[in-house]
Amino acid sequence: MAQDHVYINGKWYKGEGEKRAVINPSNEEVIIEINEASQQQTVEAIQAARHAFQYTDWPSNPARRIAVLRQLADLLEQNAETFAAIETLNTGKPIRESRLDVSDSIQCLRYYADFVEQRTIEEKKRTDGTTSKVIEEPIGVCALIVPWNFPLLLGIWKLAPALAAGNTVVFKPSELTPLSFIELTKLIDSIGLPPGVFNLVLGSGSPVGETLVTHPDVEKISFTGGTKTGRWIYEQCARGLKRVSLELGGKSPLLIFDDADLTSTVEWALFASFFNQGEVCVAASRILVQRRVYNSFIDQLTQRLASLRIGDPFAENTEMGPLISSSHLKKVETYIQIGLQEGAVLLQGGERIKERGYYLTPAVFTHVRQDMRIVQEEIFGPVITLQTFEHDNEAIGLANDTIYGLAAGIFSRDLERAERIAGKLRAGTIWINSYHTPYVDAPWGGMKQSGIGRELGPQGFAAFTETKHVNISQHGKSLGWYPSRS
Ligand code: NAD
Repeated sequence: MAQDHVYINGKWYKGEGEKRAVINPSNEEVIIEINEASQQQTVEAIQAARHAFQYTDWPSNPARRIAVLRQLADLLEQNAETFAAIETLNTGKPIRESRLDVSDSIQCLRYYADFVEQRTIEEKKRTDGTTSKVIEEPIGVCALIVPWNFPLLLGIWKLAPALAAGNTVVFKPSELTPLSFIELTKLIDSIGLPPGVFNLVLGSGSPVGETLVTHPDVEKISFTGGTKTGRWIYEQCARGLKRVSLELGGKSPLLIFDDADLTSTVEWALFASFFNQGEVCVAASRILVQRRVYNSFIDQLTQRLASLRIGDPFAENTEMGPLISSSHLKKVETYIQIGLQEGAVLLQGGERIKERGYYLTPAVFTHVRQDMRIVQEEIFGPVITLQTFEHDNEAIGLANDTIYGLAAGIFSRDLERAERIAGKLRAGTIWINSYHTPYVDAPWGGMKQSGIGRELGPQGFAAFTETKHVNISQHGKSLGWYPSRS
């Protein structure tokens, strides 16, 4: 049982695929060895989900689904500290941030339970006597695929609405961070859902992820991850016109105007850029500062960076932990080299600080040009670029000039101007005088190459439904060729 980490049709199995060591990024030690799912087991999980969708009352029993989501939320709450510890152990994120992830996950489960409870069916009486009903039905078997930076929270953002809507699920966490979802599956197992409603397959893109994406019995892919992977998934889904939601990468700008209170703005900027080690899709990786306050901003930023607490993610006062893996650390360091080769100036940071653990100090680049790769490409780590602007239009032009459109931040005392600029920015989420907070009842997602569709809120629920229009007329009425259409 201790080795059984694949969950299919209500039972635990030993994975018959690759064996992979799960690493603690803060000390590089092996936490556990996982036997991942084989391609055959992935297909079995899909078949179990298909069977459950077709033959159990799960899709048609909202009361049961509401009860399950609430029970899961309660269980997660009772075990909140365990889940926070697992998340920190596996990802290296500071424990205070893991606790936030767990409490946001609980809130999300409860939100979608309430959402289904309060849902009404749209009904219309027509002049010809017909009653029209517009019904939101589940799609069917949904494959949920998530990355490693918020393994539990991003998983719940998909799982809660998918189950709430009545779908059955095959879930795949990142191969780097399977631990919190293995633990969550134990809670799901203890609730006793109909077998096959929820299945957990562990493994990487090939073969597990690719099997989920290409199998004809999977009717919806909900994916969070890199833009390159998302693009490939979108192409595969096009072949069978499979439903797809994509939450992808970003290169989000933070616009700081010269009327902003600099001391608090510097704090926000650090949080916006380096929260979760900068391994956040919406991380503010491009800071645009109005020229008049640029030098003062840099002075305050570098002073504050010097006192940033980087270290043991389990220490209560740690502000930044290690990056996720050795290969990701190397990728981020390669970008720092690229920045230097492109002629940018590394003001500070970009250094390893410990012999063990994937720690890197925040890197700040100045003297950058808009066409540099470090300005255009997602690095997904603690690396920021600083640029200046003179006036609103220049700021808007720079902010919008990448392929991404996930998020943006604006700091200014002039809310009217900030809102006007927000209206010009091509980004799915914009924070004015704050950053990062997601609200469970409000949509989350990207424009341009940052994604397709939205998660959270009513939109996140709609993404897991198909719309059916049922027209009901009295039996025995004579046929009318041209009935009225109102
Ligand atoms: P990734 O694309 O490498 O992997 C994401 C997930 O997809 C993992 O579970 C991985 O195993 C799986 N996968 C990889 N190849 C696959 C394939 N061919 N078919 C099916 N599944 C496949 O991304 P990552 O490195 O794990 O995560 C970082 C990326 O995620 C960043 O680009 C970041 O911006 C993005 N992200 C976006 C959001 C958002 O809300 N928009 C949130 C978090 C992370």
